[in-house]
Amino acid sequence: MYETNYHRASSIDDAVAQFAKGTDSRFLSGGQTLLPVMKQRLAAPSDVIDVAKIKDMIGIDVSGDTVTIRAATTHYDVAQSDAVQKAIPALAHLASMIGDPAVRHRGTIGGSLANNDPAADYPAAVLALGAVVKTNKRSIPAEDFFKGLFTTALEDGEIITAVRFPVPRRAAYMKFKQPASRFSLVGVFVAQFDAGVRVAVTGASSCVFRHAGLEAALSGSFTPQAAAAVVIDASGLNADLHASAAYRAHLAGVWCRRLVQRLAARVIQVPPQAQVGAAVADHPDAVGHRIEVDDRAWTQRHLLGQHAAGRRGAARVVDCHELSAGRQAIEFAIRRPHVDTDHLVGA
Ligand SMILES: Cc1cc2nc3c(=O)[nH]c(=O)nc-3n(C[C@H](O)[C@H](O)[C@H](O)COP(=O)(O)OP(=O)(O)OC[C@H]3O[C@@H](n4cnc5c(N)ncnc54)[C@H](O)[C@@H]3O)c2cc1C
Repeated sequence: MYETNYHRASSIDDAVAQFAKGTDSRFLSGGQTLLPVMKQRLAAPSDVIDVAKIKDMIGIDVSGDTVTIRAATTHYDVAQSDAVQKAIPALAHLASMIGDPAVRHRGTIGGSLANNDPAADYPAAVLALGAVVKTNKRSIPAEDFFKGLFTTALEDGEIITAVRFPVPRRAAYMKFKQPASRFSLVGVFVAQFDAGVRVAVTGASSCVFRHAGLEAALSGSFTPQAAAAVVIDASGLNADLHASAAYRAHLAGVWCRRLVQRLAARVIQVPPQAQVGAAVADHPDAVGHRIEVDDRAWTQRHLLGQHAAGRRGAARVVDCHELSAGRQAIEFAIRRPHVDTDHLVGA
């Protein structure tokens, strides 16, 4: 047994002051990493300073071309945020793929970034989007924030208060999940800005990194062919019982190519819980569009298939494949503009 003092901070200043009083203090946010680490006796802080209820550290603001997510905002809230879905849908999508519902309801963006797990998802978004990590002391550009395995630029007692993301022209994220933990075996985030393309890879190395070759190729020509022509060097990449370095390098290339393919196609983003049929109905010229949809079950594929192939003969599913667990891309060809598309999903 060891003793730990628990403090619930009422403000950022209070959190910093409480931290300074302990001999070996740690901030506690969602507890999704710190508590398991304490349970395993890998950490035994003298004091834990709970920041999860500090009002100034919770919430999301979108203004102009910037999305600001305060540090104690949960993954669930980011995934569900209409504002994030509209401004940077890839970010909401990324948050929706973290762990499982329990992890998403407790885990926070600030905790994830401070922890800097080599397989975490948020670091890829922060680096690819060129976000700025705000702390109680300063603003740290993404390039300077991630220092190595579980290591960041944060000083002792420095607290992340928010993350500021510039809104890209378009962006997308995809990861190959480690099936047991759902962390990224390899995750790739592609963001296109007027100034060029940024590509960040997570899960493949000891720390998230940008890939200069992919960025140069895609800044020159934003096509799947340009991505496919880039050779990803496997040296220095992670190798373990789940995947060799060569396999991770290959995955990074494949993911990047698919992301560009997806972004280059005309895509209708369907927010979580929206009906596929309604989304198609809103786009009567949706022939050949890819519809991306959060879906809980493969059964929808069968419903779609049945109705599409059924007596109406109004729509045809061209392609339907799983982008990641629970998320599908469905491509329609529609023959009649006034098709009663709600019936397509059997809603
Ligand atoms: C089963 C499981 C599956 C998971 N799957 C994924 C996944 O697929 N993808 C993924 O990215 N993550 C995954 N995670 C991790 C999850 O995203 C956590 O949210 C993340 O590890 C830490 O966030 P937290 O808020 O829980 O932080 P905590 O556990 O509370 O803290 C983590 C560390 O950050 C420090 N800290 C916390 N907040 C701050 C702050 N504001 N400023 C400075 N330091 C701070 C703490 O002192 C601690 O060192 C998973 C976790 C579990 C348990």
